[in-house]
Amino acid sequence: MVDTDDRTDPEWVRCGRCAGLIYGRRFRRALRVCPDCGWHGRLTAQQRLDQLLDPGSAEPLRQVRAVHDPLRFVDSRPYHERLADARADTGLDEAVLCASGRIEGQPVVVAAMDFRFLGGSLGCGVGALVTEAAETSLRLRTPLLLVCASGGARMQEGVLSLMQMAKTAQALAELDEAGILVVSLITDPTYGGVAASFATLADVIIAEPGARMGFAGPRVIEQTTGERLPEGFQTAEFLLAHGMVDDVVARPALRATLGKLLALRSPTTPPEAAPAPDGVRLDAAEPAERDSWAAVRLARHPDRPSSLDYIGRLLDDFLELHGDRLSEDCPAIVGGPGRLGGLPVMLIGHHKGGPDLAERRRRRFGMPSPAGYRKAARLMRMAAKLGLPLVTLIDTPGANPGPDAERGGQAVAIAENLRLMSRLPVPIVSVLIGEGGSGGALALGVADRVLVSANGVYSVISPEGCAAILWKDPEAAPAAANALRLHAGELVRLGVVDGVVPEPQDGAHRDHAGAAAMLGEALAATLGELIPWEPARLLADRKRRFRRFGVEAAGADGGTAAGPVVDPVVGTVERGAQ
Ligand SMILES: [Zn+2]
Repeated sequence: MVDTDDRTDPEWVRCGRCAGLIYGRRFRRALRVCPDCGWHGRLTAQQRLDQLLDPGSAEPLRQVRAVHDPLRFVDSRPYHERLADARADTGLDEAVLCASGRIEGQPVVVAAMDFRFLGGSLGCGVGALVTEAAETSLRLRTPLLLVCASGGARMQEGVLSLMQMAKTAQALAELDEAGILVVSLITDPTYGGVAASFATLADVIIAEPGARMGFAGPRVIEQTTGERLPEGFQTAEFLLAHGMVDDVVARPALRATLGKLLALRSPTTPPEAAPAPDGVRLDAAEPAERDSWAAVRLARHPDRPSSLDYIGRLLDDFLELHGDRLSEDCPAIVGGPGRLGGLPVMLIGHHKGGPDLAERRRRRFGMPSPAGYRKAARLMRMAAKLGLPLVTLIDTPGANPGPDAERGGQAVAIAENLRLMSRLPVPIVSVLIGEGGSGGALALGVADRVLVSANGVYSVISPEGCAAILWKDPEAAPAAANALRLHAGELVRLGVVDGVVPEPQDGAHRDHAGAAAMLGEALAATLGELIPWEPARLLADRKRRFRRFGVEAAGADGGTAAGPVVDPVVGTVERGAQ
């Protein structure tokens, strides 16, 4: 990671934000980030490649032919003169520089844009080079990294510039079909046609701190609407909060982050020495006659480990990815790729936030917004594309009862996850690690194997909700809990879960490390069984698994004898308890 392009560097550099003077060599050593305020200075494409690629690994891609000045465009000056000047000033042929190389030892094809070259504008040449980079990725089956910096489409090439958006999008669609990872790095500024094509079509979008991205620039918006935009509008941090980028990563951490991403590969063999599944009890022997209300209270214990607690103990190289690319980053659902005992997986889970009330509130008590389900869906599709097994950890009181969740299409978001998971062509293991409340839980729970922690519960409605509706008395929650039969032993008997993950003797809330070790063992065993399965077998088996629910009960009593609540789940409970 050496920045060798120092020929033109002045001895002193003025910071673009705090205006402090930085000694040129110090600035370069700091990857052109201001040591005082963290401002990320603009890089040339060559500097970017020098910073990102392993030393000596860069190989330029072959040149491609593209038309230049197809309209013979003239404004105050002929375009061909401007183009010649840009070439002379930058030493580049176009506003993007492409190479293959390695990052942290991982092979990659990189297309790095250079804002100095006519504002990084997207014309025929840039379109051809980015497409060539994508096609090289496809040919070599190597991930593609797009480093974006652009003011938008190049006006001087007219509507042919607009077509470059479609051409590059097409090339990326082929990488999606081929299951090849695409990562985009948003640098300041990335606007217009680049933002609305390859910059945002990546599986993972990383932004540098402060980098601005959008379709329309702030000046255009302010002039058009007469509205004053808030501070920080369209910056990386704004984009993260609004679900548009996966993460904001400072320049010194980029290589490590990219290296982890580029190392993601579909596992072809089960985890090494996967233990036999004796940690997972496949019968309901032990927790049979327990009190369901006691189980509910334990499942809700504020000290109980939630998804991030398990992730911290179980996964190496976990990279939390954020946002639904639509509206926001829901804090009640977390997810990203990582390694479980060396095995690459995608993990998605509800996160309740632990014992601290402020944090629990920030996490919405584990009740996702529609954006949470959509983030989960995005990560599921990414798992399918890359062939990564999916693990989901379920821990939610249920769907979100607020009006905003309804405005955001909560029902649709849940329904779409059920359909998506039904046909996701990778192994899926779901674990009810705490509370499994209604549709909010099931939205992460259409899996090949569903496990429940010994003190976990799963229910169509909260006991309080059930008591209020059927008993007309919320105080009847314990009675409702017992009638709903929602603890681990009953869930196994109903066939809704396939096994029970044991917990430390006094419960997971007393021993996070012990609980994580047991969960890790159960996951390794379960995934070890499923990973050798072809997608067709996984899908057929998953279909059978969910088809069977309630079917026998309907055959026995015609589906009409289930009492005041005619519900296949309740029907199965009756049958299962006999
Ligand atoms: Zn500064």
